[in-house]
Amino acid sequence: MQITLVILKPSAIQRGILGEVISRFEKKGIQIVGLKMVHLTDKILAEHYAHLFNKPFYGRIKDSMQASPVVVMALKGVDVVHVVRKLTGVTNGRDAEPGTIRGDYSMSVQENIVHASDSPETAAVELKRFFSDSEIFDYASHLTPYFYANDER
Ligand code: UDP
Ligand code: MG
Repeated sequence: MQITLVILKPSAIQRGILGEVISRFEKKGIQIVGLKMVHLTDKILAEHYAHLFNKPFYGRIKDSMQASPVVVMALKGVDVVHVVRKLTGVTNGRDAEPGTIRGDYSMSVQENIVHASDSPETAAVELKRFFSDSEIFDYASHLTPYFYANDER
């Protein structure tokens, strides 16, 4: 099984849809193995969005991501990095397919509700950025036989 990182952005917190978004992951059959509220410092954000740091709009992304705390989650499942990106939808909420989180809740490129790691390699780095080992829990999920066949796990 893989683990991926999701951030519920200030847009999700301010709009009061944390529960709805988290519920989508739960209903899909993805296991929550880490969850906490944090404030994103300048340093953490510069690392996390290093690929955007030199863009002219980095300042507004930074303000948006620091507008309130965020909720960070570690989500576990088979191929979960790929599955969560599919559930999230493309970056621009106006282009994201209906049925995806961004497609259903966002009209914006910036205010697009969630961050999700884009590859297993990125997920490993991003999980370490936000969680210590002791904050990621290894516990039995008793419904696993109803979410996966034996040879899928
Ligand atoms: N972003 C933005 N304008 C852009 C590109 C990105 O506001 O032109 C923001 C947006 O919130 C996006 C985040 O920066 O989710 C990270 O960008 P990335 O290209 O990594 O998109 P993602 O992986 O989140 O779909
Ligand atoms: Mg990205």
